[in-house]
Amino acid sequence: MKKKVGFIGLGIMGKPMAKNLLKAGYSLKVYDVNQEAVKEVVAAGAEAGESSKDVAASSEVVITMLPNSPHVKQVVLGENGVLEGAKPGTILVDMSSIAPLVSQEVAAKAKEKGVEMLDAPVSGGEPKAIDGTLSIMVGGPQEIFDEVEDMLKVMGASVVRVGDIGSGNTTKLANQIIVALNIAAMSEAMVLATKAGVDPEKVYNAIRGGLAGSTVLDAKAPLVMQRNFKPGFRIELHIKDLMNALETAHEVGVPVPLTSQVMEIMQALKVDGKAKDDHGGIVQFYEKLAQVEVKKDNQ
Ligand code: NAD
Repeated sequence: MKKKVGFIGLGIMGKPMAKNLLKAGYSLKVYDVNQEAVKEVVAAGAEAGESSKDVAASSEVVITMLPNSPHVKQVVLGENGVLEGAKPGTILVDMSSIAPLVSQEVAAKAKEKGVEMLDAPVSGGEPKAIDGTLSIMVGGPQEIFDEVEDMLKVMGASVVRVGDIGSGNTTKLANQIIVALNIAAMSEAMVLATKAGVDPEKVYNAIRGGLAGSTVLDAKAPLVMQRNFKPGFRIELHIKDLMNALETAHEVGVPVPLTSQVMEIMQALKVDGKAKDDHGGIVQFYEKLAQVEVKKDNQ
């Protein structure tokens, strides 16, 4: 029997993930502070909940897909929150990207109420959320993972348990460092090629099959050349991830010099009004410095 699922947080990612669960035959009760998002998922077959507490009260598994640590704390631990409604034995799967230490803190409070928690952040962005092909990195007890693995496989092509609670988010921080640095490297290189007079599209096609090729290059270079910075993954959310990465790195005694440089690049973009652009928009920082725009020759 498929478990009854509660889904809280129906944004860019949560909405398609919830719709995929509905398509796979799960019954869903959903909540978001944004009523428009709720309406859209209800139209796809979900039931609307009145609050996070209400959603938790009628669910065996509660999924949260929220922006950051404070939102997860509020939704799970706060007034009218998940723990007020959840029965002992409920499983909480937090799929938001948050600080690993906060995952551990929230899990400890949940356990006091008999609720087991997994942290299960995702990578892949909106296109893979829509296709149900996300990469999902999970922290928490093996036996709880076993209970929800099939459900997670509806949303992800790769579902890997990486360790205890918090390790999903530690893995996600590693992922976000690699993605941010890749986008910055790609931007620096494409601005150089463009200002030196070479068509960036030709550069992209020439190098994408070699060692410089990457998933990031294939996902972001075409959008940059089309001047399409619609999110996707907003720069402000990547700032949040790098903030969590810097804090976690410093707590465990790891200097992260490149991460802090890209953080400052993103801070400059935020001051420049670009916080809501896709993180492919990092290129605009380099373009401003070099006074050149990366676009196809024929544009
Ligand atoms: P989003 O801002 O589009 O969605 C978040 C949703 O949470 C919104 O609909 C918002 O109304 C809702 N929300 C906020 N506070 C709430 C509360 N108190 N109660 C109920 N609902 C509340 O963000 P997103 O892009 O969907 O990202 C969600 C998480 O997934 C973030 O942690 C992000 O870092 C991560 N993520 C995003 C992407 C991406 O490409 N967008 C990729 C991988 C991971």
